[in-house]
Amino acid sequence: MKFSKVCTVFDAMEVTSSRLALADLLAKLFEETDKNEIKKLVYLCQGVVLPPHSGIDLGMGEKYAEQAISIASGAKVEEVEKLYRKTGDLGDAAEQLLAKRTQTSLSQNELTIAKVYNNFYKIATISGQGSQETKIKLLAELLVNSNGSESKTIIRFVTGKLRLGIAEPTILDALSVMKTGTKELRVALDRAYNLTADLGLIAELFYTKGLTGIETIAPTPFNPIRPALAERLPDAAAIVEKLGQCSVEAKYDGFRLQCHKQGNKVTIYSRKQEPMTHMFPDLVKAITEQINAKSIIFEGEAIAFDEDTQSFLPFQTTITRKRKHNVKQKAKEIPLVLFAFELLYANGVDYTQKPFLERRKALQDLLKPGKIIQLSKTITIDKAGQLQEFFDECVANGLEGIIAKDQNAPYVAGSRKFAWIKLKRSYQGNLADTIDAVVIGFYRGKGKRTEFGFGGLLTAIYDDENQVFKTIAKVGTGFTEEQLQWFNDTLSHISVKEKPRNVDSLIEPDIWVTPRLVVTLTADELTKSPTHTCARKESEGLALRFPRLTQIREDKNAIDATTEREVIELFKMSIKQKLYGADTN
Ligand code: AMP
Repeated sequence: MKFSKVCTVFDAMEVTSSRLALADLLAKLFEETDKNEIKKLVYLCQGVVLPPHSGIDLGMGEKYAEQAISIASGAKVEEVEKLYRKTGDLGDAAEQLLAKRTQTSLSQNELTIAKVYNNFYKIATISGQGSQETKIKLLAELLVNSNGSESKTIIRFVTGKLRLGIAEPTILDALSVMKTGTKELRVALDRAYNLTADLGLIAELFYTKGLTGIETIAPTPFNPIRPALAERLPDAAAIVEKLGQCSVEAKYDGFRLQCHKQGNKVTIYSRKQEPMTHMFPDLVKAITEQINAKSIIFEGEAIAFDEDTQSFLPFQTTITRKRKHNVKQKAKEIPLVLFAFELLYANGVDYTQKPFLERRKALQDLLKPGKIIQLSKTITIDKAGQLQEFFDECVANGLEGIIAKDQNAPYVAGSRKFAWIKLKRSYQGNLADTIDAVVIGFYRGKGKRTEFGFGGLLTAIYDDENQVFKTIAKVGTGFTEEQLQWFNDTLSHISVKEKPRNVDSLIEPDIWVTPRLVVTLTADELTKSPTHTCARKESEGLALRFPRLTQIREDKNAIDATTEREVIELFKMSIKQKLYGADTN
């Protein structure tokens, strides 16, 4: 397929806001590709060259992209920079400069999906001496051969600033519409996506083999599975009312890891399905020593543990283990314990379909005793008082709270169902839970903060039904100097000229950013607000009162943020708490 066709559809998507219309546009484009291109096309729509678990990131610096534009257009780099400053978008600047070329090269070749994808792939994967020059050449080659809006799309893609206004669910909608004209196959497609976390792979299977193709997908080592998520309920009584007899586990405040092993090969994935194996040589060793299975996929929470005092360390300490350098030294300084809590697959058997108690029993049988991998602490209860007692004990041991688990439920990959219900310690006067919000914009600094160019965040929660981000808080406190600097650097890489298309906001920050970065916020309470769009009804929405930053959550994707529905539930819970004084302390 010609790349110009893709760009025409991308341009149309940029000015379309209805989710249905976006899915229709994509579905038509998918119909017109062939079986060798569909995978590449789906990755292009996602702005990636391979799924996150490949560990391959295109991310080309703007400076290099400017050099490629200069080579292709004949304009000086300073001219490119000047026009970039003027337009606020390097893609637009490229399109204008390339349109001004006085003479097109005689040997110009029309771009195809395959050619564009291949160059992107090489840009993402080559490394070593001289690789920057090669990357610039590969990009310049595409630009020389581009026409019309192709150059804009190419530049936005390599700099991570595509603006299609869609997330994975719209691509899944489009795949279903492509085959049936409706969204009726979404359930089957969602299942396949949740088990592989690879939209390109399932699009190809679906395109070539239809429904049967994706129905045969089963958990496979080294294909990370999207994580099951926990619901909330206000107190122990509500949990027991919902689940009856259930398992209750300690909730460890570390980071979630999904461990895959086949033979001697071990890969550890983050919650976002990124490979992190190199960061945890201690855990890799423990997996080879303590797991008694040829092949396995299991999950656990890794948390820093102080042997001397036999106590858990705070998240801020645990997180320092996520690093690229000095890994071995840090592993010695801050040893981790991996509390295994889920078995998803072992020795060819798919455990995701089996009830929780069976999964847990099998996990116990496959784990040899040892210091580094331990089973999460669990008890069976059927009374609220027992749950409360266990909760108090966990909190007294410095843990976050508990997760109650439905003993008969399967593993619900990628979704939030009442199979898991969390209850966290609540601080006096604070919300019963933190909010994971997505940064959608930021403010320039005032006073001391001017030197960092950063003064605060505009944040949003996720309306997963309509796939838009709705504002919930402006956050100006809780930042360390290091974080101010970090936000400034990180956010300027994802800044965009206009309000992103999947953002619903009445507030205008100084600078908009692509919704990508998740932060955990705590606040005094949820209040009604005339300016925020979260849960907005009759000109009033919900907002966080006195929001403060508690963590930067690089381990979460934007669509894993707290949803609008959850915020509404939290608001209802807080009203109930005020009325009846329910207390989880
Ligand atoms: P939250 O991030 O607050 O929604 O809580 C869910 C998270 O708690 C999971 O994603 C895990 O990272 C973490 N967690 C800690 N301990 C457990 C456990 N025993 N079972 C399941 N998840 C746990």
